[in-house]
Amino acid sequence: MQVTALCGVLGFPVGHSRSPAMHNAAYRALGLDWRYVKLPVPPALLSETVRALHGSGFRGANVTIPHKLDAFACADLRTPAAVAIGAANTLTFSDDGAIEAHNTDAAGFLAALDMDVRGRRALVLGAGGAARAVVWALREAGAEVSVWNRTPERAQALADDLKVSAIQRPATCDVLVNATSVGLEPQLDEAEMLKALQLDELVSPPQAVADLVYGEEPTPLLAWAERGGSRTVDGVEMLVRQGALSFERWTGVAPPLDVMRAAAASR
Ligand code: NAP
Repeated sequence: MQVTALCGVLGFPVGHSRSPAMHNAAYRALGLDWRYVKLPVPPALLSETVRALHGSGFRGANVTIPHKLDAFACADLRTPAAVAIGAANTLTFSDDGAIEAHNTDAAGFLAALDMDVRGRRALVLGAGGAARAVVWALREAGAEVSVWNRTPERAQALADDLKVSAIQRPATCDVLVNATSVGLEPQLDEAEMLKALQLDELVSPPQAVADLVYGEEPTPLLAWAERGGSRTVDGVEMLVRQGALSFERWTGVAPPLDVMRAAAASR
């Protein structure tokens, strides 16, 4: 089949990304002659590469570590979600070459959580880019949000910026979200992970627990939450949901979520 449009993921490194498998599986399922490729780009070349993509047949690109802030900065247009979060994970190239920055991590997280959080106490662990998107999403959805981070000054800065509370130690809540990279590398056992996240003194896991980190198996945090009877949401589901929102933005078509889930899980 002749390829008529391209999309890709900008990162450095980007070899680990599951996005190409997920998007290409969805194109095939819908009979779309599009292709999604890895775009390993060093930070110093990001802006020029992004400018060149439209002329090379690209309709859009996802953005991952370490480019989310620079991608936001080099866009011509920015959606309200991207502006509030201050970072972009989705770039869309319009016919005239204008670059629009958007952030689907926020809505993707809420879609994965699939829960009415109005009036609920939500605790987000972490103060990086992913935490910013999740805090903003939960606050917009009506939750009472607090943030904890290993480096408290970063939690305070995020809290001040997004008008939520920073706390010194994780406390009882209804919804707990791990938006740190703890558990990614090195892999930790349950006791080590709970200690690193200062959850080791919580009497029981909250009603719902989400972990943005994903791997081959449920993370120790989710294993702990499942044993305690919590509803759990894993990082693969968030990856699928944020990817699905990018896909629909670029193609105008809702992708088959089950196809994307299977491709993301099997890589
Ligand atoms: P980031 O900006 O680098 O932030 C990393 C966060 O993790 C910081 O808050 C950092 O705390 C904390 N941290 C790192 N090592 C720690 C440790 N040993 N103990 C306690 N805290 C530690 O990264 P990010 O972009 O926000 O991403 C965070 C995680 O979310 C990554 O694992 C990423 O893969 C995942 N993610 C998943 C999805 C998805 O679709 N599933 C989407 C986006 C991100 P300090 O401030 O103290 O350094």
